[in-house]
Amino acid sequence: MCADETSSTPSNFIRHIIDDDIKANKNDGKVATRFPPEPNGYLHIGHAKSICLNFGIGKDYNGTCNLRFDDTNPHKENLEFVEAIKEDVRWLEYDWDDRLFYASDYFEALYQFAVQLVEKQLAYVCDLNAEQIRDYRGTLTEPGRDSPYRNRTVEENLDLFKRMRDGEFEDGSKVLRAKIDMASPNINLRDPTIYRIRHGVIHHQTGESWCIYPMYDFTHCLSDSIEGITHSLCTLEFEDHRPLYDWFLDSLDVDCHPQQIEFSRLNLEYTVTSKRKLTELVEQGHVEGWDDPRMPTIAGLRRRGFTSASIRDFCNRIGVTKADNLVEMGVLESCIREDLNDNAPRRMAVLHPLKVILSNYPEGKQEELQPANHPQHEAMGTRKVIMERELYIDRNDFAEIPPKKFKRLIPGGEVRLRNGYVIRCDEVIKDDKGEVIELHCSYDEATLGANPEGRKVKGVIHWLSANHSIKAEIRLYDRLFTHPLPDASKEGKDYSEYLNPESLLTLTQCYVEASLVDAQPGDTFQFEREGYFSLDKARSANDMPVFNRTVTLRDTWKK
Ligand code: ATP
Ligand code: MG
Repeated sequence: MCADETSSTPSNFIRHIIDDDIKANKNDGKVATRFPPEPNGYLHIGHAKSICLNFGIGKDYNGTCNLRFDDTNPHKENLEFVEAIKEDVRWLEYDWDDRLFYASDYFEALYQFAVQLVEKQLAYVCDLNAEQIRDYRGTLTEPGRDSPYRNRTVEENLDLFKRMRDGEFEDGSKVLRAKIDMASPNINLRDPTIYRIRHGVIHHQTGESWCIYPMYDFTHCLSDSIEGITHSLCTLEFEDHRPLYDWFLDSLDVDCHPQQIEFSRLNLEYTVTSKRKLTELVEQGHVEGWDDPRMPTIAGLRRRGFTSASIRDFCNRIGVTKADNLVEMGVLESCIREDLNDNAPRRMAVLHPLKVILSNYPEGKQEELQPANHPQHEAMGTRKVIMERELYIDRNDFAEIPPKKFKRLIPGGEVRLRNGYVIRCDEVIKDDKGEVIELHCSYDEATLGANPEGRKVKGVIHWLSANHSIKAEIRLYDRLFTHPLPDASKEGKDYSEYLNPESLLTLTQCYVEASLVDAQPGDTFQFEREGYFSLDKARSANDMPVFNRTVTLRDTWKK
């Protein structure tokens, strides 16, 4: 069955290949993919593209998608990353059922495959050190030279390889190499290393059972084959490795030879998606951690208030091709904005409070207003908002000397309080330094929620009761980098030189509606006129709730 008949996922060149394979009854019409992260960091938005592609295909073609940890590099990997990756894939609402695998599950099988290569005279133990190997490898324009150890006998190789496994040799003193072609125009085929010695590392899955570890290229194709993967989807940097992928599988006795297909990586403006660089941002303290809401990690986006649906929508919109691409941040933001516009309950929050006294509102009086949670969705209900004599409005909604077209509050002018009354500013109270500290206003009782006939008030501002609101910390995020291509800017500077010093603005004097007392971490709201905000998992240093701005109401990237 063609996937497009059953899902809303747009088709792409990979799905076309699969459609053709199914028509030709290749792999008996089966489709099996995998997502193969290395547990050496948290997943980022680029991985989301790969997850949606692989798991999406598994699902839409009634096939399977495995989660497989590519864990051949134990000194950089750990269990924290394993757990975080599982959580993120689950959060994106993809399911590997009982198909959670580790490349390390196959270490014994891989060892036996390596022995098979040696027996076929297609691998040898080499005593050159790393520098010599590099030296012998040649360049793009010059062929490499054969290692002096290339012609060891099968017996000698089998003996040495076994002794490598048994721990007789030091790190770096020997490697096992595939015997392919030192003159190949493709450098990946110039006798690549397939096993190296690593003593003293404790692998998060296999502990200290092994002191030799297989290399990625050798491990990956065989893990795919062992799992019966039909389509092995990876990013374009592996295109030059495909001949090696195929060489291993053609050289060994295997039942399954998956087809490797490459697609282009996701690059997102104003951020980086290299795990090495993200690790540096965390380790050097440029951000709070892997889930800092400025990070392009799934955990960071989640903490920022992104929904998994918005990220899947984003992956659908950007599509899958072979062309290099740089996606505008505005595309990601419009996905979450559309989602939250439809689904986030409305609330009021005052970010820069200015006290307002309604002089003609009786002292001690309180009114309970019931504004709707969503202007279009009645089913989302209402919540209580208290109106009283003392209120807060936002400092930016008042101007003593208004700029042109200013529709909000000015001395002697009128404005509507959202869901409430029309008020007029009668008196401006200032401190010794001349700063406005309070407004004395009067309210018009006849205007609650609606304008009486013939009455025109242009501005509507948000507000809160001064005594029935919650103090909160609000964090406003901006792009993490000042350059759209921090990774590869034309100025040739290091990406860290483009870190935006203003990527986080913390406001500690804010107020939010009392109804937010019940909000749970991760709940996201539209603070009217201010944007979308999500309750953070942690409270502030002085024990206030913290709201992270997920996204502004409008696209502020396009200037
Ligand atoms: P790094 O680039 O930092 O070395 P990686 O991309 O190799 O990390 P892996 O954990 O190996 O990280 O990635 C798992 C899978 O996700 C791979 O199949 C990889 O091709 C894919 N992937 C990684 N980054 C992106 C990206 N930016 N866009 C699309 N797919 C990606
Ligand atoms: Mg990788």
